[in-house]
Amino acid sequence: WGRDEEDMHETINPGACWALKRGKPHLNRADGRKLCCDHHFGNEALLEIPMIARGEIVGLLQLFAEGDDAEERLESVQELGSALADGMSLALANMALREKLRNQALRHPLTGLYNRRYMEDSLQRFVRLAERENREVSVVMVDLDHFKRINDEHGHAFGDQVLRESAHALVSALRETDIVCRYGGEELVVILPDCNIERAADKAELLRQRIEALRDTHKAEISASFGVASIPHTSGGVADLLAAADAALYKAKQNGRNQVQKAPMRNHRERDRGPVRPASSAEVVALEAAE
Ligand code: GH3
Ligand code: MG
Ligand code: MG
Repeated sequence: WGRDEEDMHETINPGACWALKRGKPHLNRADGRKLCCDHHFGNEALLEIPMIARGEIVGLLQLFAEGDDAEERLESVQELGSALADGMSLALANMALREKLRNQALRHPLTGLYNRRYMEDSLQRFVRLAERENREVSVVMVDLDHFKRINDEHGHAFGDQVLRESAHALVSALRETDIVCRYGGEELVVILPDCNIERAADKAELLRQRIEALRDTHKAEISASFGVASIPHTSGGVADLLAAADAALYKAKQNGRNQVQKAPMRNHRERDRGPVRPASSAEVVALEAAE
């Protein structure tokens, strides 16, 4: 507080800071006598107090003073400064711990993907937002093809690796605001906010190619099938959105796997009516066969 930014170093090397190196407060004198940190300018006295919590450095508290009695003034507030640094360190460490626990609770350890619970909560939120602001939301349901056979032929550890790499292939091809989660087993769900069905299908095709490309690295028959649905084009609410994506995925499997299928468009009357009862996979396939 109270300093011009140009008077501050952008970075401090922890190895060149006496307070951080020794893990205790250090006073850099204005006259530069005694031990002085590399980053100390001189002409001011500087008390540095390391902020350490659970053995980790979380920061460095710097107190500056000018004038004849600068050193004495800093020494007199050292105890208070240390209490302040301890309090801040603990608060920062607690925030980091809370974030870590939150991540552990929300993510699947093998793939690092969000879990089903988180996906369902986010989908609710996106759908409500889309309804209110007349926007679109798409979901892509992904299921690895013949995964049981991959496990049987190459072992479960290999299966795990393929699942992990497939998850990575999806996440790295999507925007940070898109949500990828593990729905269950080797089934993944991608939420694409602000994305219509056509763009979602194009995206799914790209994801399909990325998973198929894992074949070259692993010399194994790796692929996935994709079902795409969106609000408002194919579905009217959360439940029928997931059901429609699932039905489209089922169709992709029936059609020979390693492909993308879109859910059928709703007609205008249905769209005006809003949320519809979810159609089962079997119903959709039967309807399409009849067409
Ligand atoms: P399909 O193309 O019809 O989807 O065939 P599939 O063999 O993938 O389908 P099915 O749902 O019958 O089998 C899924 C298999 O995926 C069963 C299970 O052993 C395996 N699996 C599910 N989760 C994991 C996982 O986390 N790791 C590994 N290694 N295998 C998993
Ligand atoms: Mg499968
Ligand atoms: Mg499955």
